[in-house]
Amino acid sequence: MLMDLHMHSNYSDGKNTPEEMIEAAIGIGYEAIAITDHVWKSSSWVQPYASHLRSLKQKYRHQIQLFSGIEAKVTSLCGDIDADPTFDTMVDLVLGSIHRIPKSDGYFKKSDIDYYAKTVIIENWLEAFNKLLENPRVDIIAHPLSELKGFGIRQEELPMMEITDSIAASGKILELNVRYNTADDPVIRLSADKGTAFLISSDSHSVQDLVVNSRLVRDFVNMGMFRIIDIQQYLIAKKEKTMG
Ligand SMILES: [Zn+2]
Ligand SMILES: [Zn+2]
Repeated sequence: MLMDLHMHSNYSDGKNTPEEMIEAAIGIGYEAIAITDHVWKSSSWVQPYASHLRSLKQKYRHQIQLFSGIEAKVTSLCGDIDADPTFDTMVDLVLGSIHRIPKSDGYFKKSDIDYYAKTVIIENWLEAFNKLLENPRVDIIAHPLSELKGFGIRQEELPMMEITDSIAASGKILELNVRYNTADDPVIRLSADKGTAFLISSDSHSVQDLVVNSRLVRDFVNMGMFRIIDIQQYLIAKKEKTMG
């Protein structure tokens, strides 16, 4: 199934409306997409956003399968996400991502690389990442490890066996984000070997992004080296779990 389950609309920082994104996706030939706008705990538009996406699911149901989602960033070393828990029940998918590396009092700034040893930044990142993996609210780990690049930390400097073991044990879906990852990234390659379920997503912020990135998404899917999650099955199982 050709799909892209991470993109933004003008409900957050995307340039286009959900309708424009959906119509572009239909034009590309996607069978399913998710619109996953960035949220904050204080976001007051999530309810209208969710009901808008519900109506669009109906409107386009014969052309494409639409899922609703939110992308929420990690706010602390405990792996908490910046989203009100009520948001989770309004959408299909919760993406968790580290956009800034937390520390005990706030976040690391890029300039902190001059004051802290890399090992300290890595230690804090690892703690937050492992807790994110344990966070039951989160379905998909979006662009894993991306934030470390900004601190000049390469994957070779990380305990990759341990990280990819934890990802596999968590049962979370790992995103191969075509903006940040390649098939050769150790986190991607090792996770694929360990049987982790993947989604290949573009994180597009406009119709133009969506079109350009679709070629990469297709290439990764065709590579056949990733076990792509059956998202329908996943959502059915998730629903059973929350009702159970
Ligand atoms: Zn993100
Ligand atoms: Zn995103």
